[in-house]
Amino acid sequence: MTLILDGKKIQKKIADELRERVNKLKKTPTLVIFSLKPEPSSLLYIESKKEFGANVGCSVEHIELESSISFEGIGGKIKEKNEDPEVDGVMIQLPFGSSNRTSKLLDLIHPSKDVDGLSAGNLASLFRGEEKILPATTRGILEMLSFYNLSIEGKKAVIVGRSNLVGRPTAATFTNRDATVVVCHSKTRNLVEEVLSADLVVSATGVPGLISSGMMHSEQIVLDVGISVGEEGSVKGDVDFQSALKTTMAVSPVPGGLGPLTVASLFLNLVDIAEGKVGHRQRLEG
Ligand code: NDP
Repeated sequence: MTLILDGKKIQKKIADELRERVNKLKKTPTLVIFSLKPEPSSLLYIESKKEFGANVGCSVEHIELESSISFEGIGGKIKEKNEDPEVDGVMIQLPFGSSNRTSKLLDLIHPSKDVDGLSAGNLASLFRGEEKILPATTRGILEMLSFYNLSIEGKKAVIVGRSNLVGRPTAATFTNRDATVVVCHSKTRNLVEEVLSADLVVSATGVPGLISSGMMHSEQIVLDVGISVGEEGSVKGDVDFQSALKTTMAVSPVPGGLGPLTVASLFLNLVDIAEGKVGHRQRLEG
């Protein structure tokens, strides 16, 4: 029978652990989230972060900026939070305008407060195999695999999607854990064969149903990062979940899979920072 990888259950376990860790701290871990108006989907994601943060005893400040604000204007606000000793983590809720400008802004977040792990410094550490602060979705993937004792070492992993947010950092993280990794994207010629050859699949494209029945097999673990909201408001992943249930060894659902773990992992990163820890590879492997 196919194992359904339950992100909500793991989120609850992480929340219990975080509450205990936060209780031992002398301060309230504080996260600042910048977002750009008008971005209704961002507001939903930020709400879920606020809710989870409150649940584990962390403070979340949301700063919503006008879309007309200049690069210097945003940069000044980021620097202010970099220098504020009360603030532990600073992040930019994506999308945040042009990708070029966003990358430059992400690099203004001080590496020690880069709670989403997306600045050039943190990504460089990851690609060097040093892993300081992992991007939240990538950490969520590791948390999910670790919870179910699903190993990465030696596996053939196929990552579909090559964004800086999910695909690339996940590929680097799997490489660091001794998987053999193939990264696929919209120009990949033989996606069916590539995915079918994998022991471990991570799909992060936002194309609903992209990973279909003929691409999956009975020894496969399939992790679905994709989130697409249909016109009728239904949320779908990249994976044909009903087919995966009949075909695979394990699959994560959407919703209820990696979404809750991305939120929880952001707060694992925040509390690591507040505790003065950077790097958590040992914890995830142990
Ligand atoms: P991007 O749009 O930045 O990247 C999408 C990637 O998918 C690109 O690399 C693109 O290829 C690839 N792709 C698109 N179409 C195909 C196709 N037909 N075949 C193969 N590859 C394809 O998205 P993100 O990485 O930011 O997000 C991906 C998905 O994950 C979205 O649905 C997003 O909502 C979701 N997400 C979910 C999170 C969670 O918490 N569960 C967190 C973050 C994101 P190319 O590079 O060639 O264009």
